Amino acid sequence: MEALILPEIDFAKCTCCGVCEILCPEHAIEVQDTGPVFIRPQACIYCGLCESSCPEHAVILRYAIVWEDLS
Ligand code: SF4
Ligand code: SF4
Repeated sequence: MEALILPEIDFAKCTCCGVCEILCPEHAIEVQDTGPVFIRPQACIYCGLCESSCPEHAVILRYAIVWEDLS
């Protein structure tokens, strides 16, 4: 099975403003009453827009994708 690494949401900081839902290019996030929910987790391309645009700094992408040249 393929591992799926998603952005982490700090629900204590989130104000449910909806910015991450609006900006997510893959429509992976939906902001519900309790905060953002990944409604299409497999669609996330880890672009970082939700992290960089969140006004409350409530989104964290903990893992950078690093390409290693094995040739
Ligand atoms: S942009 Fe940040 S504060 Fe707004 S809904 Fe998303 S996680 Fe919450
Ligand atoms: S990292 Fe990009 S694709 Fe994934 S949820 Fe955030 S904005 Fe959407």
